[in-house]
Amino acid sequence: MNANTILVVVGLAGVYLLTVAMWPYRACGGCQGGKVRSPSGRHWRPCRRCGGTGRRRRWGAHLIGRR
Ligand SMILES: [Zn+2]
Repeated sequence: MNANTILVVVGLAGVYLLTVAMWPYRACGGCQGGKVRSPSGRHWRPCRRCGGTGRRRRWGAHLIGRR
């Protein structure tokens, strides 16, 4: 691992943190807009995984500490 490799890794990490700062959330995926629908589709409850927000914080967002 030479100096150039370290530079590339640091650069990629910087780009990743920049995208996380701009887009700190991703879709939950386990629900639709924070709602989990019953099989009939008429009833719903807040999703437990995302707390009903429909969004999950990305891994890097915890490092930055933004909300
Ligand atoms: Zn969810």
